[in-house]
Amino acid sequence: MIYLDHGATAFPKPPTVRAAVARAMECCANPGRGGHRPAMAGAETVYACRERCAAFFDCQPEQVVFTSGCTQALNMAIHSLVKPGDRVVISGFEHNAVTRTLQGRHAQILVAGRQLFDPEDTLREWEKALQKEPKAAVFTHVSNVFGYILPAEEMAALCRKYGVPFVVDAAQSAGTLPISLKKWGADFIAIAGHKGLLGPMGTGVLLCGKVPEPLLFGGTGSLSLEQQMPSFLPDRAEAGTLNVAGIAGLEAGIAHIQKRGREALFAAECSQVQRCAKALEKLGLQVFAGERQGGTLSFVPAMGCEEMARLLARQGVAVRAGFHCAPLAHESAGTLSTGTVRLSFGPDACPHQTDKFLGIISRILQKN
Ligand code: PMP
Repeated sequence: MIYLDHGATAFPKPPTVRAAVARAMECCANPGRGGHRPAMAGAETVYACRERCAAFFDCQPEQVVFTSGCTQALNMAIHSLVKPGDRVVISGFEHNAVTRTLQGRHAQILVAGRQLFDPEDTLREWEKALQKEPKAAVFTHVSNVFGYILPAEEMAALCRKYGVPFVVDAAQSAGTLPISLKKWGADFIAIAGHKGLLGPMGTGVLLCGKVPEPLLFGGTGSLSLEQQMPSFLPDRAEAGTLNVAGIAGLEAGIAHIQKRGREALFAAECSQVQRCAKALEKLGLQVFAGERQGGTLSFVPAMGCEEMARLLARQGVAVRAGFHCAPLAHESAGTLSTGTVRLSFGPDACPHQTDKFLGIISRILQKN
């Protein structure tokens, strides 16, 4: 199969990730819930991942909070910063995990910067919006629909300049682009463990520049006699039993990236996106390509997106068609009436895979 849906989740996971999950199932009991050997093995497994995340994302281990995915991380971050009625600035490329959470919080949403692949417009509009005294700002690092890499460092610097607390949605960039909690000075960075970091589904991370308000309340293994959640990280934000096997796999996923080289993986994805973009344009498709583009490419075929995805699936090619949980991004790019077919490349990106894909799609277009 040709799997071009890594934006949904990386697949298949590396063998070392699968082995780490199996090992944790065999050796680990509940961390922090006992001094016996299996509980200690659980605690060590979780701490090893916390340390690896801290090194990878340039922060302290206690600033790493494990979640079930990027959605839960974004919910915690947004609930910590936004009160009902607050004005919140977001980019024009946000996922429903941001926009629905803000709607649920009854925020007043201000969208800033809607031009695709245009960082100057993004920064100009971002600065204008920050001058309207919002209570918070949220922006995606990379658009999950179009692969547009927003100028995150500069956007973060503008938030700091205007004193606006901010959250970065790094669901599509963690594992492929550099991310530094310290340098960006973000209040929160929300991360998916199961995409670019190659961990199991059901894993995510919230990097905390400040102590969040808990989303969940319950046992933490610490201060059991207290009826308030602990005030310190990570315990305040990690109620209940952690996904220890998933966290073990996440650590192995990050180790896999470090071994192969984050930059090399990213470069391979980008070069296949560029090749595909040129070839698909030659085939007469409407292609969304630009300079600041990561490993994701959207296009619109005349036959319709769902039909194209169905025909590709019949030939063993996995892509995603539709709106990709991000109607705002489609509104910005003008694809709200059609959706797009999305190709999202992963660590298996290579010219051979691209050639095979291009052969298959050319034949589909000839026949239909
Ligand atoms: N934000 C973006 C930009 C995403 O692409 C996704 C996943 N599609 C999410 C948030 C939600 O991530 P998760 O599936 O880990 O909850």
